[in-house]
Amino acid sequence: MGFGIVVENFLRTLGPTMAKNPIQFQSGLSLTKFLEHYGTEQQCRDALFRLRWPEGFVCPECGNGTYCVITRSKRFQCNRCHHQTSLTAGTVFERTRTPLRVWFLAIYLITQRKQGISTLQLSRAGHGVRSCFLPRPFGERSG
Ligand SMILES: [Zn+2]
Repeated sequence: MGFGIVVENFLRTLGPTMAKNPIQFQSGLSLTKFLEHYGTEQQCRDALFRLRWPEGFVCPECGNGTYCVITRSKRFQCNRCHHQTSLTAGTVFERTRTPLRVWFLAIYLITQRKQGISTLQLSRAGHGVRSCFLPRPFGERSG
């Protein structure tokens, strides 16, 4: 099982239903490998996109498959009904300003510390991510 699959299986469980089952996570994954695949915001967004729409974009309102991306808000707008949705809508990532790459890294770190984690725990951990694990992650780039 590839590393990407492990992470994405894990993230899938954080999806719209917010499953509360404990999740087992493979230990011993190298941080280097992790950052190679999920080190940038764009990589994390791509990973979430694949999880959310494995067959390609589907409008949650009308089921249409074509969309455009609103550059500033990074939201997806359906070409048919103009409903807007985001990658993080309905997930634990939705109500946070924390960059996705920080979330991903937090997930990685947390799951390396314990055998498993529930989404509830992760949700709680979200607030402490910066102070507990990453006081100044990667020296915040702006723009
Ligand atoms: Zn639509």
